[in-house]
Amino acid sequence: MQIVCLDLEGVLVPEIWIEFSKRTGIPELSRTTRDEPDYDKLMRFRLDLLGRRRLGLPDIQEVIRGMGPMPGAREFLDELRLRFQVVILSDTFYEFAMPLMEQLGMPTLFCHRLEADDAGFLRAYHLRMPDQKRAAVNAFRALNFQVIAAGDSYNDTAMLGAAHAGILFRPPANVIAEFPRFPVTRDYDELMAAVREASGRI
Ligand SMILES: [Mg+2]
Repeated sequence: MQIVCLDLEGVLVPEIWIEFSKRTGIPELSRTTRDEPDYDKLMRFRLDLLGRRRLGLPDIQEVIRGMGPMPGAREFLDELRLRFQVVILSDTFYEFAMPLMEQLGMPTLFCHRLEADDAGFLRAYHLRMPDQKRAAVNAFRALNFQVIAAGDSYNDTAMLGAAHAGILFRPPANVIAEFPRFPVTRDYDELMAAVREASGRI
């Protein structure tokens, strides 16, 4: 039995914080862990800024719904799900991802959770566990699945390494250089071909 684990942002949907920052015209929200390596500090800064701009969860979800998935993502995922069990492993939050999941046909998603107050303002974030992408792949292996994993960035490489086969999708140059053992794909046709090739090989 084989299972495919996919990253979400940069593979099926845009980078949510970056796109959200553009759409709301709040440039500070495009800060990433490259600018602020302390993730907790970064998240507190983001939640605080959203509150000061009076952006509550319904407003945020409306903006995210308008982003939509990447072109061709729904068709790719539908075809993949005809052939494989698919689980999306992401470090985003359910409250952000749901408007996009609806547009992707509600695939299974493992991620984290945000806490809002009664007025809809975000108060806290809750990571389900650290390093959850790798932990999920190892758990699927323990359940006797063969795992094929695909992702686009540095935070996916542990998951790709833990899987029986790892595939990169539109990665930045530094990831390609540092992880030459993972094949690189540039569009959904190539990704589908790489998944099917891996499926026949593992
Ligand atoms: Mg990604």
